[in-house]
Amino acid sequence: MTSICSLYSGSSGNSTYIGGESGGILVDMGKSCRQTLQQMARREIDPAGLLGVFITHEHIDHVRGLKVFLKNRPVPLYASPATAAALRQKDALPPEVEVRYIDESCPARLPGFSVEAMATSHDCEGSQGYIVTTDEGRKITVATDMGVLPDRFYERVEGSDAVLIESNYDEDMLRACGYPYYLKRRIISESGHLSNDCCADAVEELTRRGVSRFLLAHLSINSNFPGLAFETSAAKLRQMGALVGAGQDVMLEVMPRDEASLLWAF
Ligand SMILES: [Zn+2]
Ligand SMILES: [Zn+2]
Repeated sequence: MTSICSLYSGSSGNSTYIGGESGGILVDMGKSCRQTLQQMARREIDPAGLLGVFITHEHIDHVRGLKVFLKNRPVPLYASPATAAALRQKDALPPEVEVRYIDESCPARLPGFSVEAMATSHDCEGSQGYIVTTDEGRKITVATDMGVLPDRFYERVEGSDAVLIESNYDEDMLRACGYPYYLKRRIISESGHLSNDCCADAVEELTRRGVSRFLLAHLSINSNFPGLAFETSAAKLRQMGALVGAGQDVMLEVMPRDEASLLWAF
């Protein structure tokens, strides 16, 4: 059995758990160690079963809890060389942590899991998403913090049993919100975040290619609403004749900001 659970998701912190027969991994840890463990406990995820923590990039909403967590539970940390260097420089890692490099040219192998990196276009060096395949043959993609879709996104992601994808902002809400102009430019840029509309296009195309579970993630607190992110993708799916909902053609869920989502197993 393979499972996925978003522990929390949004500009205030991101972390996703992926479980397999021989343990589990975390992608990112953007809230405190205590909050991360609390949310794991809610879904009865045993931290002793963690085989590693994968980091997408150095921003604080992805690494806040890392240092304390790794101090208490020394599992290997997986990141691109640039991200690992940045984390060391920011003193975001305990000195004794075991860092293992992963990037597009160098996948990772753990007991029960193969993990490939997918370089993302974001405003820091070495940022990447992850494509996780379990030994049971299940495939899960985690793709957030990207201004545009990565190269060969559809080819690489098709066949996924679940895709956690960023639906960061609504374009009109972002334009109207109180963010300074430079920040709006940054978010909209090719090294920023994925809008609801871009996410919906990706959801539509992936559905055509057979993906049927989508977890909408990393919503902006100031320029999005969960219902709006959901409806933008759901409308596209309905247009193409797909039924959206539990037990229907396509599962589409918005990940909660501060608490664990359901844990989906398949
Ligand atoms: Zn970021
Ligand atoms: Zn982020």
